[in-house]
Amino acid sequence: MKQKLFIDGEWVSPVRGGTFPVVNPATEEVIHQAPAGTAEDIDLAVKAARRAFDTGPWPRLSGSERAKYLRAIAARLNERKHELGRLEVIDNGKPLPEAVWDIEDTAGCFSYYADLAEELDRNPEEIIALAEPRFSSKVVREPIGVAGAIIPWNYPLLMASWKVAPALAAGCTMVLKPSELTPLTALELAGIAEEVGLPAGVLNVVTGLGPDAGQPLSEHPGVDKLAFTGSVPTGARIMAAAARDIKNVSLELGGKSPFVVFADSDIEKAVEWIMFGIFWNQGQVCSATSRVLVEESLYPALMERLVAETAKIRIGDGLSDGTLLGPLVSRGQYEKVLGMIERGRAEGAKVAFGGKRPAGLDTGYFLEPTILTDMNEDNFVWREEIFGPVVCVKTFMDEADAVRMANDSRFGLAAAVMSKDKARCERVARAFRAGIVWINCSQPTFTEAPWGGYKQSGIGRELGRWGLSNYLETKQITSFNSEEPWGWYIK
Ligand code: NAD
Repeated sequence: MKQKLFIDGEWVSPVRGGTFPVVNPATEEVIHQAPAGTAEDIDLAVKAARRAFDTGPWPRLSGSERAKYLRAIAARLNERKHELGRLEVIDNGKPLPEAVWDIEDTAGCFSYYADLAEELDRNPEEIIALAEPRFSSKVVREPIGVAGAIIPWNYPLLMASWKVAPALAAGCTMVLKPSELTPLTALELAGIAEEVGLPAGVLNVVTGLGPDAGQPLSEHPGVDKLAFTGSVPTGARIMAAAARDIKNVSLELGGKSPFVVFADSDIEKAVEWIMFGIFWNQGQVCSATSRVLVEESLYPALMERLVAETAKIRIGDGLSDGTLLGPLVSRGQYEKVLGMIERGRAEGAKVAFGGKRPAGLDTGYFLEPTILTDMNEDNFVWREEIFGPVVCVKTFMDEADAVRMANDSRFGLAAAVMSKDKARCERVARAFRAGIVWINCSQPTFTEAPWGGYKQSGIGRELGRWGLSNYLETKQITSFNSEEPWGWYIK
């Protein structure tokens, strides 16, 4: 485990020399002291990224030259996926197979953006048709400059790749600030960048606390673009900080995503996707379908099967064979989620399953998978993101009712619908006010498709070609081609 920050191609101790503890959420043991970067380190990192962008080779390389580095990073990630997966487990708590899957996805993200970097060479400019025959115009795409990335703890390395890979593909340089709850693998990524010979200053990784390292990054005048994933309140702070210098900003924030299940659905499939939609990664997924809306006639049978299958989920240390639900990421998150369940109950919700520490797991931030029912639409648990393995289930009368309830949220990240009636699925998919819609499933995420939310779930889209556009400026180059004088002042 790395003990230094990675700035300008060098491993350096934080200027103020501080550290912060990294806790294994399954054992509550301190497993590492990570370097606590502060404003001084952020300043050094941004200046290094600035130099690498303004005078270094990186933005001037062809896309296919940059792609070679991205592919080399992908190859190393794949080679080390089991080791990096284990690091994610002791840092974040998730079950090992999920963590290894995350690392494979992370490698896939670097490979995908290597392809898009090559594509930039194939399409270096776009000719714009003008109505004025004396002029010609074309558009070129150029890297925005220095990007600052601030990321959360739920998918530590994968969330880094969603920002680092497209930024590097575009020719930007970057300062990455991982979550203080999960700093380990971002520093390993820096090690991989060093191994593959990424030019100094192109990727800088500064671990540290949000107010100490994240805030100075969001406020630094040397940063051209901020890319953030995390909570709405922090997103609002970052946007306010970005406003001062008119930095380009993209935000991936929270959600309270609905899953509408019509009565003609296959119950077994519905139960499986409902569970995957909320218990995968302990429900710590921004797009988790945490509000399930079931057509009234299906409700009793579906609830019986959902409770029965949920009761079978094996809870334990993410490193133990067969674990399907690990601990929550931290004591803070654990207490927050328990408090939310209590508040939901006080406001009238019933616990159909779970809601407490599992028997026999006295250490670690373990929580039973939890199913809440019978809440009103104004219940706190129905409206607010819990970010834990807690699903709220309600019934609906008809399609219009379902769509109204689904859209009645300040969030709009994702939504899902299940029915055997394809036309109905399509209709409801269009009616959802959300950036990601799943039909007959919930959560599968593909690097090629855009990711992001409506309303308070964020601004902009990551992944796919939209993710690359986040890091590209659009420049028009217009020429006057006529031999005739312009003739406005001088006739
Ligand atoms: P957070 O918003 O507090 O932290 C996210 C990142 O922002 C971390 O790297 C953190 O250090 C940094 N940060 C914190 N304060 C900052 C500041 N003032 N300026 C700049 N950066 C700052 O979120 P969290 O504590 O990681 O999680 C809390 C909540 O965020 C969750 O309960 C959930 O609601 C939401 N969340 C959403 C997603 C998502 O993918 N949409 C992911 C993780 C968490």
